[in-house]
Amino acid sequence: MNQSDAIVCGGGMVGLTLGLALAKGGLQVAVVDSLPPAKTVAPEFDGRVSAFAYANVRMLQVLGVWPHLAPDAQPIREILVSDGAVGRPAAPFSLHFDAQDVGADSLGHIAENRHIRAALHAAIAEEKNLTLVAPADVQSLTVDGAHVRARLSDGSEFQAALAVAADGRDSKLRKAMGIGVIGWSYPQIGIVATVRHAKPHNDVAYEHFLPSGPFAILPMTGNRSSLVWTEAKDKAPAMLALDAKPFEAEVTARFGAHLGKTEVEGARWSYPLNFHLARDYVKPRFALAGDCAHGIHPIAGQGLNLGLKDVAALAEVVLDAARLGQDIGALDVLKRYERWRRFDSFTLAASTDALNRLFSNDIAPLRQLRDLGLGVVDAIGPLRRLFMRHAGGDIGKLPRLLKGDPV
Ligand SMILES: Cc1cc2nc3c(=O)[nH]c(=O)nc-3n(C[C@H](O)[C@H](O)[C@H](O)COP(=O)(O)OP(=O)(O)OC[C@H]3O[C@@H](n4cnc5c(N)ncnc54)[C@H](O)[C@@H]3O)c2cc1C
Repeated sequence: MNQSDAIVCGGGMVGLTLGLALAKGGLQVAVVDSLPPAKTVAPEFDGRVSAFAYANVRMLQVLGVWPHLAPDAQPIREILVSDGAVGRPAAPFSLHFDAQDVGADSLGHIAENRHIRAALHAAIAEEKNLTLVAPADVQSLTVDGAHVRARLSDGSEFQAALAVAADGRDSKLRKAMGIGVIGWSYPQIGIVATVRHAKPHNDVAYEHFLPSGPFAILPMTGNRSSLVWTEAKDKAPAMLALDAKPFEAEVTARFGAHLGKTEVEGARWSYPLNFHLARDYVKPRFALAGDCAHGIHPIAGQGLNLGLKDVAALAEVVLDAARLGQDIGALDVLKRYERWRRFDSFTLAASTDALNRLFSNDIAPLRQLRDLGLGVVDAIGPLRRLFMRHAGGDIGKLPRLLKGDPV
C-alpha cells in the first residue's frame, strides 16, 4: 500500500496544478492520470488554447510553472466584442476592453493546452513531494475511517487522508461517490481551428456574436489565431466535413478581412458543449475540482480559469488545516472549500449560460437590445473596468495563490 497525504485522481491541467500546489505546501501528493504524459502534450491530442485570467497567471508564477510557459504564451491587450451575422458587418455598438484602462500590461494570456500541460509536467519534474502515476486509471475509492483508499488499474493501491477527483466532465469518480449533477446539453458544437493570417493581430482578441453562437478569435504567438467557433449542432457536421478550400471560405465569411489573407493551419477539432454543476463539491475525505465539479459554455473562455480558482481555494483550505494539525479530509474542513467556491462557480456558469441564450439567435428585438447593452457597457467606464476585473479573476475573496502570494 502506497501512502500519501492526498491523492489527486486525474492529471489534466486542473489536477496537475492542484498536485503541485499541495506539494509546494509540504504535503506528500500522488497524482494519477489515465494517459501517458507524452500523449497529452502532442499536437494531435488537443487543438484548444486557453485564455488565462491574470490572477491565474500570478498563481502559475508562484508555482514555478510560468517560466516554462511564458515563451509560448501570448498576451491579450485588447478585447473587441461585437454582434453580427455571417457576412454582415459588426454592429456599431461594439464593446472595447483595453488593458490600459485598468493600468495593466495585459488582460490575460493565451496558451495552447499542450504547452500548458508540458509546462506543468516540467514544473512537476522539479517537485520532490509529488509522485505522478501515469498511465493508470483510478478504478475505485473507498472511504474507511481515517483514510481513503484508491485502487488503480495497474493493481496498485494508494492510501491518503484526502482524495480529490479532477477527472473531467464525465467524471466516473463523482458518480461512484454518489454525487449527482444538474445539467443539459447545448444545441451547439465547438469547432476549434488555428488560423495563420497575413497581418499581425496586435494582441487583440475578438468575440463576434453570430446567430449560431459566439465566434472567438484568440491571438496566438506569431501571426496566428485560434478560432473557437460555436455552430448549431445540425449544421456543424457539414462544416467539419467540408474540403479545405470551402471550409476556409466559411471561416473567412465569419472572420472578416481585418487580418488579411487567412489560412487554416493543421487539424479541425470539435467538442460537444454542455452545462453541468455538481450538487455537492465535497464528501468526507473527498472533493471535486475543475470540470468534474462544473462544466460551462466556452463563450467567455472561463472553464479552466474556474478550475484553477478551485485549485487555489482548495489548496489554501487544506494546507491551512494541515498547518493547524487538523484532519485535511474532515468534512468540516472540506466544507470551507465548498462554501468558498460553489457560489462563484454557480454565478459564472449561470451568466455564461444566459449570455449564450441572449446572443445565439437572430431575433431582431433581442439583437437591438443586446447591441444597446454592449454600447451602454462600453460607454460607462467603471462598468467596463468591473467587467475586466471579473474576467481577470481579480474580484471577491481571493485565495493567496491568486494574489501571487506563496501558498
Ligand atoms: C471548445 C472549448 C474551448 C475552451 N476554451 C477555454 C478557454 O479559453 N479558457 C478556459 O479557461 N477554459 C476553456 N475551456 C474549458 C477547459 O478546456 C476545461 O475547463 C479544462 O480543460 C478542464 O480541465 P480539467 O483538468 O478539469 O479536466 P480534463 O482536461 O478533462 O482532465 C481530466 C483528466 O483526468 C484524467 N482521468 C479521467 N478519468 C480518470 C481516472 N478514472 N483515473 C485517472 N485519471 C483519469 C484524464 O486522462 C484527464 O487527463 C474550453 C472548453 C472547450 C470545450
